[in-house]
Amino acid sequence: MRTIGKLITADMPLGSLWRLNPEQEATLEKLHIATVHDLLRHYPSRYEEPGQAKHIADCAALETVTLTGTITKSEARRAFKKKTPLGEATLDDGTGTLTLIWFHQPYMAKKFGVGAQVQVRGQVRERNKKISIINPDIEFSTGETTPLLGSPKSLAPVYPASAGISSQWFAYHIGELLGRRAHERLSDPLPDDLRARYKLPSLSASLFYVHAPQRLSDARAAQKRFAFEEVFFLNLVRLRDRESYQELGSPRLAAPESALGQFTARFPFTLTSAQARAVAAILTDLARPRPMMRLLEGDVGSGKTAVAAIAAYATVLSGQEIAYMAPTEILARQHFESFIGYFAHLGVQVGLITGSECRKFPSKISAGWRTEEHTHISRAQLLKWVANGEIPILVGTHALIQKNVLWKALGLVIIDEQHRFGISQRMALARGKNAEHTQNNTKKSVPHLLTMTATPIPRTLALTIYGDLDLTLLDEQPVGRKPVITEIIPEGERERAYERMRAEIEEGRQAFIICPRIEEPDPEKELALEAKSAKSEAKRLQIDIFPEYEVGLVHGKLHLHEKEQVMKDFTERRLHVLVSTSVIEVGVNIPNATVIAIEGAERFGLAQIHQFRGRVARSDKQAYCFLFLGSRSAASVARLKAVVNAKNGFELAEKDLQIRGAGTLGGSAQSGLSDIGMEALKNLKMVEAARAEAAKIIDSDPTLAAHPLLHERLSRTQTIHFE
Ligand code: ADP
Ligand code: MG
Repeated sequence: MRTIGKLITADMPLGSLWRLNPEQEATLEKLHIATVHDLLRHYPSRYEEPGQAKHIADCAALETVTLTGTITKSEARRAFKKKTPLGEATLDDGTGTLTLIWFHQPYMAKKFGVGAQVQVRGQVRERNKKISIINPDIEFSTGETTPLLGSPKSLAPVYPASAGISSQWFAYHIGELLGRRAHERLSDPLPDDLRARYKLPSLSASLFYVHAPQRLSDARAAQKRFAFEEVFFLNLVRLRDRESYQELGSPRLAAPESALGQFTARFPFTLTSAQARAVAAILTDLARPRPMMRLLEGDVGSGKTAVAAIAAYATVLSGQEIAYMAPTEILARQHFESFIGYFAHLGVQVGLITGSECRKFPSKISAGWRTEEHTHISRAQLLKWVANGEIPILVGTHALIQKNVLWKALGLVIIDEQHRFGISQRMALARGKNAEHTQNNTKKSVPHLLTMTATPIPRTLALTIYGDLDLTLLDEQPVGRKPVITEIIPEGERERAYERMRAEIEEGRQAFIICPRIEEPDPEKELALEAKSAKSEAKRLQIDIFPEYEVGLVHGKLHLHEKEQVMKDFTERRLHVLVSTSVIEVGVNIPNATVIAIEGAERFGLAQIHQFRGRVARSDKQAYCFLFLGSRSAASVARLKAVVNAKNGFELAEKDLQIRGAGTLGGSAQSGLSDIGMEALKNLKMVEAARAEAAKIIDSDPTLAAHPLLHERLSRTQTIHFE
């Protein structure tokens, strides 16, 4: 350490304490570890049991052992081929010798020089009859202050290793910080009374326990505290941002009940009671001078679009505009068309804006409102009509949040499949820009926000990552929908599933076949591989299985117009079978399709399979879902049985959370939670407690003026700022 004797404080940059090579600097930067505080907050991912105490003469390859002896040779050098800097030492315990090697840590050889009495721990390797331990944990066995970590007597923390930085690097350096009591000098951001109430250890105790536990139970207690802390602060951020957004105010949108009654009377169905409850909650929100911030969570086919249409109509009646954003062009187009269906008879114009085209309905006013025909127009023309209020409803993709989209009076923002968008995109759209505001600087108000998702989210996740939104569940399917008959198909019985497809196609229905997910860290590569497997599967089906029918193919590598053409061919029934990668997952509505088969079903989450199944649960006809297994482990069959039996997606999302962990849930990437925080999402009681505590504080002190420590901690966290 360069600063021997100097007091170590939280904000000290690591580079002022230790010499870091450029590779290490880059890695630390990527991990957002700059200071002492950051490094102490970098937690182990697991712990290893201490190795058995042994003599070198008795060591066997691959054993994890603890050895005590003297260093008899020690040098810092570079590896022969790759020139990696390393430290190398020889350990002698009287029964034999063994080589210790630390890659990227040549200083270890200096620290543990010839004559040092040490204890080491690690896995024994054997090569050319010589034994060694790579990156062992080591400490002086007598004299000198010793780092607290990696002590062979305690559990060894294991940190995720990255380029140039091994788990041992973390263990060693964090050990030095703990040895110099840096962890005792951090202020604990969790209020004392709150810690007392939930029996959470202090920050300094937790840091010690998490990095240097004697027992696993100590580590668990520390992890629990960090999890609570994360969820608590995430909620504090969400609730504070919600408060500051709502402070901006929004137009009251009050629609006469009679008009809304006439609007819904034309629907070819009556609303389910869940839809009616959602509509009531939304209309109450819209009539307030504070912006609605609501998440409508409804299983596939539960009828969210109709609810969105009613909210849009209430907005139109108040002379305000609506932005309706969908994650893909296919979906945007579909919403555009269904909104034309809802609004054509009222003489309300509807626009569509995507990256590749702009459209408007009606194509010509003179052509009348009943044709449902729409036409291409130029972007400039469309934007002009939106800015002057002639087109009050604009449906679109991300194109909706481009800078040049100005509104006359944006009153309501609807976001479909909201988990596909980041919170910042959501807010960019919600902020909207009204043309007149930018011109004459009138007081800014913000639009109401209705977000929707068909991805069932466990309650804990909804309470954290969507903690700024009120939640409404559409937990009821329209009457007359028959549950989809779902079957796990063993490899030998495929033909049975194909027979059912043939029978359905003969009845005039259609079928989806979903190709397996290919796990690939690089998304581009993943798309390419999936496209390839979908292509060969489509070919096989066309030639070997369904030569008498038309088989189509859609995947993520197709150009947009190709995708659209395929979807159009399928919608208009020129194709009988559609082979698809998971691009079909979201929202697509083709009521005539009654069978879906999923290849490699075990590779998908339960909630996602449920989503696929939703594609064929869109009418009153009996539908079928077949799950083909790529691997037939008992565990995957047991897991898939849950899909066979479950009736709703919420139940499955909870199961996914318990079985596969929170990491596989939609939306987790944007959550800002660490692995420890995500683990906490399995614990509903704790999440509810953390949220309730955060809400209590924001209620009484919305800007946290009276809570300086909390305020300081939040300013460390990246948040969205509203202008
Ligand atoms: P999602 O919630 O998945 O977005 P949609 O809004 O696309 O569902 O609705 C699915 C289908 O159900 C549509 O064809 C829609 O017209 C129909 N639908 C919506 N509400 C009802 C209802 N209350 N009764 C019967 N059918 C309905
Ligand atoms: Mg939908």
